Amino acid sequence: EHTASQKAIDLENKYGAHNYHPLPVVLNRGEGVYVWDVEGKKYYDFLSAYSAVNQGHCHPKIIGAMTEQAKTLTLTSRAFYNDMLGKYEKFACEFFNFDKLLPMNTGAEAVETALKICRKWAYEKKGIDENEAEIVVCENNFHGRTTTIISFSNDPVARKHFGPYTKGFIKIEYDNLEQLEKHLESNKNIAGFLVEPIQGEAGVYVPSEGYLRKAKALCEKHNVLFIADEVQTGIARTGKLLACDHENVKPDLLILGKALSGGAYPVSAVLANDDIMGVIKPGNHGSTFGGNPVAAAVAIAALSVVKDEKLAENSERLGKIFRSELNKYIENSNICKLVRGKGLLNAIVINDSEDSDTAWNICLKLRDNGLLAKPTHGNIIRFAPPLVMNEEQLRDCLSIIIETLKTFE
Ligand code: PMP
Repeated sequence: EHTASQKAIDLENKYGAHNYHPLPVVLNRGEGVYVWDVEGKKYYDFLSAYSAVNQGHCHPKIIGAMTEQAKTLTLTSRAFYNDMLGKYEKFACEFFNFDKLLPMNTGAEAVETALKICRKWAYEKKGIDENEAEIVVCENNFHGRTTTIISFSNDPVARKHFGPYTKGFIKIEYDNLEQLEKHLESNKNIAGFLVEPIQGEAGVYVPSEGYLRKAKALCEKHNVLFIADEVQTGIARTGKLLACDHENVKPDLLILGKALSGGAYPVSAVLANDDIMGVIKPGNHGSTFGGNPVAAAVAIAALSVVKDEKLAENSERLGKIFRSELNKYIENSNICKLVRGKGLLNAIVINDSEDSDTAWNICLKLRDNGLLAKPTHGNIIRFAPPLVMNEEQLRDCLSIIIETLKTFE
């Protein structure tokens, strides 16, 4: 086959490292909730680049801010001040109600940043020896791909043969307060608790109601930092600005990425109050691109869109319709076990073993039917469309999904 798509796939396979296994579809255009392949076929995007494109593809306000800024000044490094960074930091701090922001580029970098801040804080404020400090993390977490982060991953494919690993992490079950309490009670060297408010990559696991609130209270009691990785769940994805907002929890360290730029540009950040961020001094941490003026302009625009277009409210409302309509189908389905999620971060579980390829084949069929999604794992398919979707489009997607599932019954 010598289609334009096949040529692009062959080229990438020949010259690119094979560090991904993409669904075979080659995209070259996006607008709002839609993307197009190089043959001109139109699809609903139901992945949103892992929840980065919450504001929709090529949002005119975000692209406008990006191109305007790119014409004037793109990068100074932090060796000098630029006139955009402070504006963005003020905007974001007021938006999320924190004193300070530390700008980075990718999610993994921001996670690393938060871990470093936490460890230095524990040394300076609690006197924990830096060789003894521990950070509690959860089983089946996903926080990125750096060596430190994979040191506490469960995923053998992500982790195996990349050692030696970074020490100083304790792994407990997700959604298990007893284990958290047991460690906090018995171990004086714990500096922080790093958690995803909903485990995205693991397969969209929503913890029990009250989990985050009670975990935060335990952390407060033991003077341990509650570190929320909202890279995937943040920026209106789950029906509130932050997933922590569902339980009125304010993290000590908030990690953002992905939709902080609406997917237009790599922008991530760690937010904290002065007492915590104050431990970071000149030279402790940085990045050539972090806080560049294009990123700053893009992030202001991306956050403005979330507010102006009421994306959290839309995500909450459409998420409820999505789950209730799918549930009606699933009641009588043999192939699909359940749907779970919050807002427009959802997943269905296919009634099949984890190592079979039914979920993959369903995604191929969804693609043929004009909707792009991908399994997070063997039998779990995540559904996370851009949050600018309207109800009519969502109902159209529901019928595509249901009609597709029917062919696998
Ligand atoms: N944290 C979470 C919760 C994520 O879902 C991801 C990406 N899927 C990351 C961190 C890593 O982000 P990045 O790929 O930008 O490094």
